[in-house]
Formats: sequence, C-alpha cells, structure tokens
Amino acid sequence: MTVTRFAPSPTGLLHLGHAYAAGVAKHCARRESGEFLLRFEDIDHTRVRDDYYESGRQDLEWLGLGCDRETPRQLDRSARHAEALDALRELGVIYPCFCTRREVEAELAGMAAAPQGPEGPLYPGTCRRLSEAERNERLEAEAQPAWRLDAVAAAARVGPLDFSDRVHGKIQVDPQLLGDVVLGRKDIGTSYHVAVVIDDADDAITLVTRGEDLLPSTHVHRVLQALLDLPQPEYLHHILVTDESGRRLAKRDDARSIRHYRESGLSPAEVLALLPPYPSQR
Ligand code: GLU
Repeated sequence: MTVTRFAPSPTGLLHLGHAYAAGVAKHCARRESGEFLLRFEDIDHTRVRDDYYESGRQDLEWLGLGCDRETPRQLDRSARHAEALDALRELGVIYPCFCTRREVEAELAGMAAAPQGPEGPLYPGTCRRLSEAERNERLEAEAQPAWRLDAVAAAARVGPLDFSDRVHGKIQVDPQLLGDVVLGRKDIGTSYHVAVVIDDADDAITLVTRGEDLLPSTHVHRVLQALLDLPQPEYLHHILVTDESGRRLAKRDDARSIRHYRESGLSPAEVLALLPPYPSQR
C-alpha cells in the first residue's frame, strides 16, 4: 500500500508552500488508495514553538488536507536517532568534528579551490585528517562534537546506488554531493538527515514527496538507507511555490500564511486555487 507523509517543522505558521506539499502527499496517497500521514519534524527544538503544532493541524483540516494518522513527533524518537548514529560510528563512516563555523570559513577562504556543493562550499575535511591520538584527545576534552559523514568511506562501503523519482526519473546517487555533511549536530545531537531516514523507515513510508530543494539531500539519504539497511522508498520531488518575484516562500512570509488567507475571508477552495497544479507523474 502507498504510504505518504507531510513533515512540517513547527517553527512557524503553515504557508502556501506547505499547503502544496501536503496536497501533493495526500493526492498521491488518495489516487493509490493509500494512507497519508502527518509527522512534526521538531528535532531542532531550539526553534520550535508549542502553538505551531496545533495551528498546523487546524490549517490542514480547514484546507481539507487533514491526515489519516499522525505519527510520533521526532522529539519522541530521539533514542532511535541516537542508535542510528551509534551504528554509523560502528561502521567507521562518521567522524567527530571539532571545528567551529568560523574555523571552517577561515580554512575555506585560504584554499585555492574550495570544494563546492549545490548550496555553496563544502566542509574541507579538516577533522577527517586528525590522527587517532589527536581525535581521542579532543574527544576527551570536548563532550559534544559534531559527527560528520566520511563520504569517501561511505561511498566505498555502499557501492553504486540510485533512487527513483516520479518527476525526475531514475537518479544515480553521488555520495559526495554534499561532502562530509553533518549527521550529528553539536547542539541537538542528531540531524535532519538521520532523523528523516529513520522516521520514514519506522513509519513504513513508501513514497517520500517533498520540495525539489531537498533533492540533493536525497543522495545522502540513499547512502544512509544503504548503510543502515533500511528499505528504499520511492521519491517525488515537486516544484516550490514562489511569490510574484519568483522567490520561494519562507515562514517569515506571514502574508502568505494559511491563517492570514483564512482571516481575510478566503474559502479553502480559493486558497487551494492559488497553488500550482499537482505534478504529472511518470
Ligand atoms: N521538515 C522539512 C520541511 O519542513 C520536510 C522534510 C521532508 O519532507 O523530508 O521542509
């Protein structure tokens, strides 16, 4: 059975972009008589606000995009995320990183050709090159380092991978696309990448639908699924809803929040009519 999900972060009011993402996920579930789940992605608890869970549920219901079932929020699954990081540590495909943001920036600025990813320069691998002794010494001194993927070691372990996307077709995985990306953040212990692959597997999601801004992340997610022996879902990366000047909507864009449209007298159908058509699928 097809199982899809909408996974907003409760860090602001839902806007048109969220309505579209939820609509695509629900539409895909309905056309295949599947299930549509709601999961709050709240690992970044420093940015979460309590009232955004309920406002999110209410806005979805009002739009006719309520879920069939709400799954446990991410914060209640921290133990599973920590287990996954332990497993990756055991496999030797992550390493502790002690760099501050400023140190990384300084190192990149001094490089003739800094490694580039789709969203800017990549981590230059400083802490990957620490000797065993240096690493142990610093681990003793620093209780909570970040943990980064050793993208080269991971690629060697998993071999060639691909994923299938209903809009973009079959995509070969580039395990180094985001470089040695952070998998365990200093502040919250885990990361979006680890949490989402574990949660999608635990929720038995068969079709992951989300915005195409997350397409590069899916390369990392496929690698993690292979390393952790998790099932491989299908994907659908859809376009992002933008404003008149072509900029993607952000949470601070309160004028385009569902709440704002509702309070200014629009009906759910009128709000849904502002969205692009759902993507045609292969
Ligand atoms: N929580 C993410 C967001 O609000 C969605 C991530 C996903 O669907 O995998 O953009």
